[in-house]
Amino acid sequence: MQPSRAISLISPLAHVDRLFPADLTTRMVARRLYDGIRTLPIVSPHGHTDARWYAENAPFPDPARLFVIPDHYIFRMLYSQGVPLEDLGIPRKDGGPVETDARRIWRRFAERYYLFRGTPTRLWLDDAFANLFGLELRLSAQTADHYFDHISECLGKPEFRPRALFERFNIEVIATTESPLDDLRHHRAIRASGWSGRVVTAYRPDPVVDPEFAGFRENLDRFGEITNYDTLTWPGYLDAHRQRRAYFREFGATSTDHGHPSARTADLPQADAERLFLKVIAGDATPEDAETFRGQMLTEMARMSLDDGLVMQIHPGSLRNHNPTVHARFGRDMGADIPTRTDYVHALKPLLDRFGNEAKLTVILFTLDETSYSRELAPLAGHYPALRLGPAWWFYDSPEGMRRFRELTTETAGFYNTVGFNDDTRAFPSIPARHDTARRVDCAYLADLVVKHRLGEDEAHEVARELAHGLAKRAYKL
Ligand SMILES: [Zn+2]
Repeated sequence: MQPSRAISLISPLAHVDRLFPADLTTRMVARRLYDGIRTLPIVSPHGHTDARWYAENAPFPDPARLFVIPDHYIFRMLYSQGVPLEDLGIPRKDGGPVETDARRIWRRFAERYYLFRGTPTRLWLDDAFANLFGLELRLSAQTADHYFDHISECLGKPEFRPRALFERFNIEVIATTESPLDDLRHHRAIRASGWSGRVVTAYRPDPVVDPEFAGFRENLDRFGEITNYDTLTWPGYLDAHRQRRAYFREFGATSTDHGHPSARTADLPQADAERLFLKVIAGDATPEDAETFRGQMLTEMARMSLDDGLVMQIHPGSLRNHNPTVHARFGRDMGADIPTRTDYVHALKPLLDRFGNEAKLTVILFTLDETSYSRELAPLAGHYPALRLGPAWWFYDSPEGMRRFRELTTETAGFYNTVGFNDDTRAFPSIPARHDTARRVDCAYLADLVVKHRLGEDEAHEVARELAHGLAKRAYKL
């Protein structure tokens, strides 16, 4: 069935009461709570915006390259409905032909905008279209060209350059994510420029920690060249991490990030860890060895964090590159990463046995397995001083996902073992919309507690501020 062809106003989707409770009493409380936090600055402690944007402050090229091509939330949906990724301008690994005409890419997206009904992507995009670009008509085939022309014109203006948007978004601090092999030149340039925007890096060592990461062995050689340590020996390899972590801290890093397939940790005697390392670099590791090695490295990273203070984030449970055809043709991060069942209780035990009681260590846990919230994650975070719960992530970074997160974790872990919101995004214009969504959903949840007389409204105001701002700042030491 084709969607309605009428041109409609965007406004119902950017409504002042969006995401608030339907009944008026609760809604009024939610409004009051939200009014108290609406203008708080954005703390974005984890994400994937490109440091180059802030360093070079060049205009974003066009609507397709701003909204469609970098956003796997968008192109995976279009792909699922039969649109070839080539038609959306996604670069092929073999350099083969893909669409380069931005307007044609935009039209293909606009014609299918109805596919996003009910998704958070729709919410974020409408928010950006209405509040950032002042668009009033809903995006559709009929309005595609109007959108394209209007957004293109805006992008040419100084107030739509990355730094101006950063300031307009009221971002207090944003973290990017870089590999240990990154020279952080863009972070250096940002600092050298004298611009006051606070952009920090985060240490994401997967390329030199995961034996199954593409190019792992060459990455280790490069790791050695950069650090002048012999990264083919176990002590040299660990020293290289220490040195690189210190370098990242010079560029503001307060955290590390670990995107492992599972939450498996290990705490081997050092002689066994060394033997495993040598097996890994010899290329003799079985998949089980690789899994143990990644797990051992989480414990090594926790040990280093106790020395240098970096907060650990563990992002497990994504089965990466599920679609081998898309992976071969377009590479990684192409919308084919699928959540899988994840164990925490047994998997984290070696790390927790060693460091779980350290109040000076912070390990922030994320999940793509919602069944673990009330069964495993909230009980763990509600006990171990070293553990905190990260917000609803990725597939659950949605109004319903956030609501489920609060409902399934609050009664066991409370609010103060969580760390506020992070947007985890590559899609720069969606940042205010994503934070605003989290603030609204949290205010709706708190309003419900208030009207049921489980929380005083004065307390709810305090919690709302913490969830929007304070918890993220403190958990990530920003
Ligand atoms: Zn991330």
